[in-house]
Amino acid sequence: MPILSGRMHQLGTESAFEVLARANALARAGRDIVNLGIGQPDFATPAHIVEAGMKALADGHHGYTPANGILPLREAVAADLHRRHGVSISPDRVLVVPGGKVTMFFAIMMFGEPGAEIIYPNPGFPIYESVIRFSGATPVPMRLHEAKGFSFDADEVLAQITPQTRLLILNSPGNPTGGVAPKAEIDRLVAGLARHPDVAVMSDEIYGEMLYEGTHVSLTTYPELEDRLILLDGWSKTYAMTGWRLGFGVWPAALFPYAERLAINSHSCVNASAQYAGLAALTGPRAPVARMMAAFAERRAYIVPALNALPGFRCASPGGAFYAFPNVAGTGFDARTLQSRLLDEAGVATVAGTSFGALGDGHLRFSYAASLEALQDAVGRIGAWLGKQNTDAGARGA
Ligand code: PLP
Repeated sequence: MPILSGRMHQLGTESAFEVLARANALARAGRDIVNLGIGQPDFATPAHIVEAGMKALADGHHGYTPANGILPLREAVAADLHRRHGVSISPDRVLVVPGGKVTMFFAIMMFGEPGAEIIYPNPGFPIYESVIRFSGATPVPMRLHEAKGFSFDADEVLAQITPQTRLLILNSPGNPTGGVAPKAEIDRLVAGLARHPDVAVMSDEIYGEMLYEGTHVSLTTYPELEDRLILLDGWSKTYAMTGWRLGFGVWPAALFPYAERLAINSHSCVNASAQYAGLAALTGPRAPVARMMAAFAERRAYIVPALNALPGFRCASPGGAFYAFPNVAGTGFDARTLQSRLLDEAGVATVAGTSFGALGDGHLRFSYAASLEALQDAVGRIGAWLGKQNTDAGARGA
């Protein structure tokens, strides 16, 4: 066996992909599975975006592009950030990358090393903790509070900062909870960060356009953070483009050359046709995005009360994204057992909260990026399965 570097043993994974593989294997074996495990829109990429990608190939865009991305795309990103948040960002600070994950990987590798601490949301996107460990840094979990709609508490976060803290990761709207941090909480955090000028901030706003109420508060609207804020965003969720692998980061001017070097050392550039497709997404009609959001809103309006009606389930209403994260402690099953038994016995794929960190214990993540019929089917199956457990327990005299 070749000898791996020590850090390889620190690398975690994203359980949603494992659940997807298991659900697909069961489906291939003839089982009827409702998959609410994977976090991707169930819509096709809007047609005008697909056409722009195909046209780019037909027009001969087959070679390398600049490592940071084609200029029209970086200009369109800057214009879109101005449209959404009213901020003026130079296209020179935009680094186009193959998916939102890449900005996360670069930011964590840029600051993480043994002895350093990185604060990250928990329950949160599992790759944060995985890459922090891979970098050698110590992951410091930022608790998200169910009672606060899965927001962080600014005072609590500020109290976690030590002289070793290099990076603070925020994610609102959040995966896996759908939680949205209120503006007042973000204001207090940013005000407190003035006392910690050496701590960088990475704000993962990949679900920033997926909000059901109010407006998204982008960290880019705080000018005092400009020289230490990394914005993570991309096309995967908003434009149903997960498979195109296209995202972007906005980097502080002083950090940009390092991020660009990481790109040159790893992927060189994003494939050209995806970049032209991304350009069409930002400059084309917005009606397809509005239609997708209307569908997500309809599904949310169904699934939250439906989950709350299941015995032992308690589900907060998600403010954004397309995830419901009910507390299932009342069922008497731990989340991982529930995840595997619901998949094997009821044919419903979900992801245990512990896949998103220790503080996700007692919860299950439902991705409601699925048709209303599929959601109704899933809730019906879970209800029947829970009923059967009670009947069986009753029959055993438990
Ligand atoms: N950030 C969060 C919070 C996510 O949930 C995801 C994907 O699920 C990503 C980043 C990564 O997105 P991409 O598929 O563009 O790499």
